[in-house]
Amino acid sequence: MTELHVVASTIDRIHIEYHCPACKNTHRHGSMGSTRNRVESRGSHCTVAKHDVGIHITDATARPRSDGKPS
Ligand SMILES: [Zn+2]
Repeated sequence: MTELHVVASTIDRIHIEYHCPACKNTHRHGSMGSTRNRVESRGSHCTVAKHDVGIHITDATARPRSDGKPS
């Protein structure tokens, strides 16, 4: 059950990061080696809100290592 949807702030081939509206921190999840636009459903690491989260990787998500080319 996904209860929260967020847009990822950054993604590289190792991690996805997003800003959490519940605890105001940044949470990090594995990116499975891909920086493509998609939605990842994960159990949140949040200590405030024990929710599942839909992490949206979009054109607004930064690819800091410029490795966002399609694979
Ligand atoms: Zn949180």
